[in-house]
Amino acid sequence: MPDEPRVTLSGWGRATHRQCLVRRPLSEEDVVRAVRSAPWLTVRGAGLSYGDAALPERGTLLDMTARCKVLSFDQTTGVIVAEAGATLADIVREALPKGWFPPVVPGTAGVTVGGAIACDVHGKNHPGSGSFGLHVLWLSLLRPDGVVVHLSPGEDADGFWATVGGMGLTGVILRTAIQLQRMQTGWALRRRTRTRSWDETVELMQAARTRQELDPDLHVVAWLDTHASGRRLGRGIVDESRPALVTDLPPALDLMPPLDNWAGRPAARSLPGPGVVFGPTIAAATAARWHLAGSEEKRILPLAAAWCPLDQVRSWPAAFGRQGLIQYQFAVPVGAASSVFHVLATLIGRRMVPALSTLKNLGYGTAGPLSFPIPGMTLAADLPARWLHGGDTLRVVDSIVAEAGGRVYLAKDSVVDAELIPRMYPRLDDWRRTRARLDPDHRLTSALAQRLRLLP
Ligand SMILES: Cc1cc2nc3c(=O)[nH]c(=O)nc-3n(C[C@H](O)[C@H](O)[C@H](O)COP(=O)(O)OP(=O)(O)OC[C@H]3O[C@@H](n4cnc5c(N)ncnc54)[C@H](O)[C@@H]3O)c2cc1C
Repeated sequence: MPDEPRVTLSGWGRATHRQCLVRRPLSEEDVVRAVRSAPWLTVRGAGLSYGDAALPERGTLLDMTARCKVLSFDQTTGVIVAEAGATLADIVREALPKGWFPPVVPGTAGVTVGGAIACDVHGKNHPGSGSFGLHVLWLSLLRPDGVVVHLSPGEDADGFWATVGGMGLTGVILRTAIQLQRMQTGWALRRRTRTRSWDETVELMQAARTRQELDPDLHVVAWLDTHASGRRLGRGIVDESRPALVTDLPPALDLMPPLDNWAGRPAARSLPGPGVVFGPTIAAATAARWHLAGSEEKRILPLAAAWCPLDQVRSWPAAFGRQGLIQYQFAVPVGAASSVFHVLATLIGRRMVPALSTLKNLGYGTAGPLSFPIPGMTLAADLPARWLHGGDTLRVVDSIVAEAGGRVYLAKDSVVDAELIPRMYPRLDDWRRTRARLDPDHRLTSALAQRLRLLP
């Protein structure tokens, strides 16, 4: 296994960097050897977490991207078995032409299945479909003592659910079986509605949520114009989309758009200095987006464009310049939508108008103590990292979220107040107990785990 020299790596947001000694195992034996020989270890998939979840504070970084084979695929049952470094795009390319698709896809298909399990990722259809972990039939986990264990909801359920959403701190996921869902075509049907106020946006999202709970195929996301002022703040565009059936397509259209839509493109280099994301440029771009996007009853577009739009624009983090961006994503319970508005108003009052803000509905979470989703709403706000002056800049926002009974998403986090984590994740101690059983010497770690004091 190539043992590479130290390299500087970051999360997707490019705001946090670490010097890392990287090992990229080519075989399962190499993974076992790397785990046995490293005193401390951090696991990394595609590195698409925004912050420091896949960065080491000390020790070796285990890069799992070379372990990326689809091992088997049963076209009758839709069960796919893959190595942990396979990406969702790899799975789509294998399964979609045969009429199957992952039931949960986050905003990028570049994530590895190991990363998707470790962060228990959600898509825009969470109220009906739940998060990724619900569709995992089993996984094999390499414990830091070198023993491989088979975990599922029926075999060591505590270990399984501590790993789902466990941020790579219970062991190294080696391979997994995922239940895919039927998919007739590679297209989505989208309905777009432009809203004129926060109240209208929330009303539409809440109405959609009731339908989503009954329909796992209904994907809903709202983009917010956070530059509008007064009563227009929070106006936006609400997109509802669902997989197109064969009968929805005009006869001239191929059932499958080109699969290279799912390829994932190399990330662009960061623009020099502060990049191009400034208050006035964001204001102009968001106003143009809102004004140009009319409501539309029906549009047919490739699934990749509907559900993973940022995969088509790989230059997004590059636009924020050398210091990169942070994404502040949090969830609040049903009935606490006003606290989302409070967060937005607070950011805007401090002249930190997000460059991109999206709102999604969430339904019931999994049994994972560290899994993010709670029934309610989640807002993700992209901010230039250069706007943060020290670690305390967003403390006020953390408090609003915690007061509302909400939580921040660890997969995106760079800044949350560590003191609030036990309140945001009340089952943290349950998770710690199971984790200590799987990794009694606490050899698995990460910069996120240290910063948020997740480990003893
Ligand atoms: C453009 C964009 C849009 C996104 N949209 C969404 C969204 O809609 N919903 C959502 O939930 N998330 C979203 N995310 C976040 C992303 O889905 C998660 O951060 C995901 O975990 C990244 O997967 P990865 O393979 O890059 O993992 P990494 O970022 O490399 O690692 C993430 C975590 O998983 C652990 N890990 C990785 N591989 C393994 C393994 N084999 N064994 C054990 N632990 C492992 C790491 O230690 C780390 O803690 C988005 C990210 C981007 C960049």
